Amino acid sequence: MRDVELAIIGGGVAGLTAGLYAAWSRLDAVLIERMGTGGQIINADSVENFPGFPGGIKGYELAPLIAQQAMDAGLPVVFDEALRLRATDGALLVESESETYRARAVIVTAGSTLARLGVPGEEQFEGRGVSYCAVCDGDFFRDQAVAVVGGGDSAMDEALYLAGIASEITVVHRRDELRAARTLVERARAEPKIRFRWHTTVASIDGGETVESIRLRAAGGDETLPVAGVFIYVGLRPNTSLLGGIVELDAAGHVPVDMWMRTAVPGLLAAGDIRQQSARQLVSAAGDGATATLAAARFLRHGEWRDG
Ligand code: NAP
Repeated sequence: MRDVELAIIGGGVAGLTAGLYAAWSRLDAVLIERMGTGGQIINADSVENFPGFPGGIKGYELAPLIAQQAMDAGLPVVFDEALRLRATDGALLVESESETYRARAVIVTAGSTLARLGVPGEEQFEGRGVSYCAVCDGDFFRDQAVAVVGGGDSAMDEALYLAGIASEITVVHRRDELRAARTLVERARAEPKIRFRWHTTVASIDGGETVESIRLRAAGGDETLPVAGVFIYVGLRPNTSLLGGIVELDAAGHVPVDMWMRTAVPGLLAAGDIRQQSARQLVSAAGDGATATLAAARFLRHGEWRDG
């Protein structure tokens, strides 16, 4: 059993910023991360809307910088998976693979996972043509035709990245309006290698050893589109299974919090993508992390939630 004042679960931008503020506040804190620090941004080719980086920065460059800043400030980071979270009298217990942390306050910043499309062939061809990470897998499709599914920022970002590698990118979107930021939409529309299939869904992903085609479904009927790869960006699912037993989640699995990132459980906070009404941006994740630690520090000082 290890006693700490504050345990932070998750080492993405929200968690690392929470940790930076914890170190600055000289809290006895620990950040528990199951894989590597950085979270989703590690897979981003270019981050252009995080303040301070005119011209943008690679996600895999920004993430280590944020981690380094937090650790240089004195944040201890443990690579371990938090498996259970329990509320006991006056403390929260975080059980990981190798340790139980008894924390007076916990900030959960477990982030999200890319949603699955849920069509035949998706699971079967994952890693053999179906991908959720263009930066990781794009090179396998050099000079080949690929499809990108979705109409959000992720789909546009990744379609633009793939335009530098693949021969042709078909964006398959279920509506005729993209929800991505206008800048990305303008760039994607101007990119000659990207074409759009509106009001269209993917009915199945087909092939032999690897993906060979997808079946497109639109009002006019089904059609087969030959592609070697399918990149799926149909939204994010919050990683909140850890919290399910102790706080009530909303229908989409997000954690209700107040403006200080406080949940209904004393000492328990949630920040970043997993919280209800998150803007789901890097900069808001960082803001959430800072806010949560300031609220946690007040809780630690007073033994109860305090606003000021
Ligand atoms: P998202 O904004 O939730 O967009 C998901 C897209 O997938 C939507 O266009 C949606 O269609 C479509 N979709 C959902 N379920 C579908 C289904 N079953 N079949 C077909 N299409 C489906 O997800 P995201 O693009 O991953 O972005 C997540 C968050 O991260 C957002 O807040 C975004 O702003 C942020 N983000 C920001 C950046 C950036 O700033 N550069 C980059 C990546 C992500 P509808 O539009 O019809 O709902």
